[in-house]
Amino acid sequence: MTPFASNIINIPVSEAPTPNQKRNLLFNVEQPLELSIEEFDKEWWPLVSNIWTNFSHKNNVNGNLWEVFICRFNKPKKSSTRKEEISQEKRRVTKIRSANLCFAKIKVYRYASEQKVLIERFKDSPDHSHTLEESEKLKRSQTVQNLVMQEAIKNYRPPEIVNAVKEYATEKLDLGESVKELRRKEVTNIKYKLKNLEQHGWLTLIDSTHKTNRYDCRLFTLYIRDYYGCWNVVFVSKEDSVTIAEGLKIVRRFARHWSPRYFLSDQSNIESNSIRMAFPGLKNGEQDCDVIFCTVHIMRTWMNKIYDKKMRQKMIHAMHKRTKIGCEDLVQQAINECSITTIKNYITRNYTKNIHQWALWARQHFPLLLQVTSTNALESYHSELKSLTSPQHGLIGACHKIVELDKKKCSDSEHVAYEFRVKRISAVGVDDDILQEIHKFPFPV
Ligand SMILES: [Zn+2]
Repeated sequence: MTPFASNIINIPVSEAPTPNQKRNLLFNVEQPLELSIEEFDKEWWPLVSNIWTNFSHKNNVNGNLWEVFICRFNKPKKSSTRKEEISQEKRRVTKIRSANLCFAKIKVYRYASEQKVLIERFKDSPDHSHTLEESEKLKRSQTVQNLVMQEAIKNYRPPEIVNAVKEYATEKLDLGESVKELRRKEVTNIKYKLKNLEQHGWLTLIDSTHKTNRYDCRLFTLYIRDYYGCWNVVFVSKEDSVTIAEGLKIVRRFARHWSPRYFLSDQSNIESNSIRMAFPGLKNGEQDCDVIFCTVHIMRTWMNKIYDKKMRQKMIHAMHKRTKIGCEDLVQQAINECSITTIKNYITRNYTKNIHQWALWARQHFPLLLQVTSTNALESYHSELKSLTSPQHGLIGACHKIVELDKKKCSDSEHVAYEFRVKRISAVGVDDDILQEIHKFPFPV
């Protein structure tokens, strides 16, 4: 096909449509539409991201690509199935939405060199079998979600946020239809995430993994533990220490009261450096922030590097020593007694100046630090994630999978919180609001 045929709508800047008109143009696409990539990604697509879902795509070597999107009511992906081992009364009430309710499709071409996007109705695609309003009920668009995020960081209560977002969207953006279905519960979920990081983020686990997408971007995850011993995921980014530091700073902007005291990481210099950049600590008049190392990673490294078993035993003993003096003594002994020069040098070079980062005596004052000495929890999360993603995924595909797993983690942690507080209360017939109040009790009721 020829990319820019004459029957395409080219919208002059002076007559830029309102967000609401843009939504309608991308709902039942009557005529092909040509936009710059930037306009499309920033102003158009976020308005309808809730209507369409990925169906197929093809990348060309020259950087061009096409994607076909299908109406979310078609539900091309299979629903996850119930966990059968959960008893009837503990189950959350869920609805399974039936598939194949609508067959509308669009095709989006991206032309890299021209920086243009062409959107057209997929060949023979029918109109939607439902109204745009029904699509809005199903899911909130990216635009609305972003509005909620912006308000959520201002520390208002969820009902006020809902009102503020509705007012702004209706009056300023002509998007009344899109926000009509925004529920307090959704806002609470977003807020809950930021609040968790602020309240529990003083010990944050950080680790990265690769092979989740085809661009070889690394995925960085921050992991925090809430009151109930459940772990929560916060954030993703990629590559070198400057990028990670930028990423951390962005998270900080969203969670302004997050002041981590400890980061637990594997021995990666990239991570330590980026943390130091993002959290300069006392220098900036802020909470001091230490990077401590995962003991499992260190012992794994020692298996290779300190291949003399006796020396290794000594170092492991030093790691677990409860006093600073005792620990330093053992390290010195290991160095003195070691007959193999490479090991001797290795220990001197890598483990004498940073003892407080890997030895447990430095964590004696903090019971939780002694309980959580490894990033195992985070690693198992990453391996679970890898079973869902594939190196063939695009970034968006990978993000979808992350969000999916994240939702599961959140509902698991809600479940544990619920169990903890209301062990003996039957949830049947008890209103959500009352349950939320019960959650505030410090001990199980
Ligand atoms: Zn549809």
